[in-house]
Amino acid sequence: MISLAQQKNPDPTDFPSELEGLRMTKQRREVLAVILAERDHPKANDVFTRAQKRMPTISLATVYNCLEALVSHNLVRQVNLERESSRYCPNLTDHCHFQDEKSGKIHDVVFKDGVKLEDILELPQGTEVSHLEISLKGTFGQ
Ligand SMILES: [Zn+2]
Repeated sequence: MISLAQQKNPDPTDFPSELEGLRMTKQRREVLAVILAERDHPKANDVFTRAQKRMPTISLATVYNCLEALVSHNLVRQVNLERESSRYCPNLTDHCHFQDEKSGKIHDVVFKDGVKLEDILELPQGTEVSHLEISLKGTFGQ
């Protein structure tokens, strides 16, 4: 699998014509590039505004369709925090989301080296976790 998570500010034209079985149309490339460029967990509306800068003709409905396709092909993760509208995250490794109550910004938080979910949770034996979604809220220390 191509490690998109490592790419910073990728050029939409650099993406292969197909990713994870999804045909990469011009619009999908643009939407993916927007999400990879600024890893601030944008909402669909933010993605739309940013995508419009390079592609003025793109519509919000198209952005939603692209996001749905990217999420269903595991190229982007959909993040739902409380009752807010969905946000989008290009980090596909297991991680949690920490929302800074002061700025409202959402940060990726990873497990400490070597720590697995089974180490901190009482999971029944044989449990296979297929989806991880942990969100935290608070403030950063000084
Ligand atoms: Zn994230």
